[in-house]
Amino acid sequence: MIGNVPSDFRLPTSDSVIGRLADDVVLSIEDLWVEYQTPAGPMQAVRGATLEIRRGEAVALIGESGSGKTTLGLALLRLLTRTARVSRGRARFRIGDGRTLELFSLGGSDLRRFRWQECAMVFQAALNSLNPVLKVRDHFIETARAHGRKDDRQTSERARELLRMVQLDGERVLSSYPHELSGGMRQRVSIALSLLLEPQLIILDEPTTALDILTQRAIIDVIRSLRQRLNFTMMFISHDLSLAAELADRVATMYAGELVEVGKVRDVFYTPKHPYTVGLLNAVPPIAGEEFTPLTAIPGSPPDLLAMPSGCSFHPRCPYATELCVRQAPPLFAVGNGHQAACFHWERVTRRLDVWEGAVR
Ligand code: SF4
Repeated sequence: MIGNVPSDFRLPTSDSVIGRLADDVVLSIEDLWVEYQTPAGPMQAVRGATLEIRRGEAVALIGESGSGKTTLGLALLRLLTRTARVSRGRARFRIGDGRTLELFSLGGSDLRRFRWQECAMVFQAALNSLNPVLKVRDHFIETARAHGRKDDRQTSERARELLRMVQLDGERVLSSYPHELSGGMRQRVSIALSLLLEPQLIILDEPTTALDILTQRAIIDVIRSLRQRLNFTMMFISHDLSLAAELADRVATMYAGELVEVGKVRDVFYTPKHPYTVGLLNAVPPIAGEEFTPLTAIPGSPPDLLAMPSGCSFHPRCPYATELCVRQAPPLFAVGNGHQAACFHWERVTRRLDVWEGAVR
């Protein structure tokens, strides 16, 4: 059952178990920093991220490529490459009985159990995440066996059921190799596989990227119906704002490794309070309405993470920037209704396009 501790879940015995998070919080990330070692020195890909995700909630992490979204997801599952490390901060996860895991202290079998039984990740390139020499059935069976579920018949039955939920012909797909399936089918297989051990939290990394528009639509419908049925918590990573609008309860915008705006979908999309979110919204066709709206690109480029600008990292591209922004980095300000924005001048921010003329410094 989603949200309950699986019968064979062995609670870590180390100091990776700590106190309790608030009842409805599944994941709490506090001041998380992730750095990559590069020939030119350490590069901070995630900088001070703080975010809570509540039970049953869907949170979208949005932002341009390279903004740190995927790195943040990989850090939570401890799947960073060898050249990357969490340099500061903590992440806590509340398991079904109310106890809390300190994620960056988990190791060995505890970590393996956390990865599939409590939290699973669906990667954007399904062909790369599925083993090309294994049939789909073997992916399910090997995953279940690795977590102590030895009854292959029961696993196959559950796999068929999950594949039916993602609108695939279970019997045919279980007997297929990944290369025998279309991109959309492989992505659905990855989603079904992620649900096999009934994790509380699913992280979806760009779940519809590289799929054609109709297949994207189908995947969105599948995710929505799975959530209604299974009520899992979801964090999905995307640069696709329309996807966020359709699936998320809350949105968190990332820029240059920082969470710069967090709030309910409606608040962030209709009354954004960070100029970068405004720039993202003005760069895509409106989600609703019949009026033609001209599109505007955000001027300039994201900063070089090895040579960050002083103060607010967005100031070289920001039409509202002042001397204060050049000198100081803004904290996240509470702007009402649980909405937060890392901008000194959030009260002046509007979606007016003329504000952006001549923005780059
Ligand atoms: Fe722009 Fe200043 Fe706000 Fe940064 S703090 S987004 S530079 S107005």
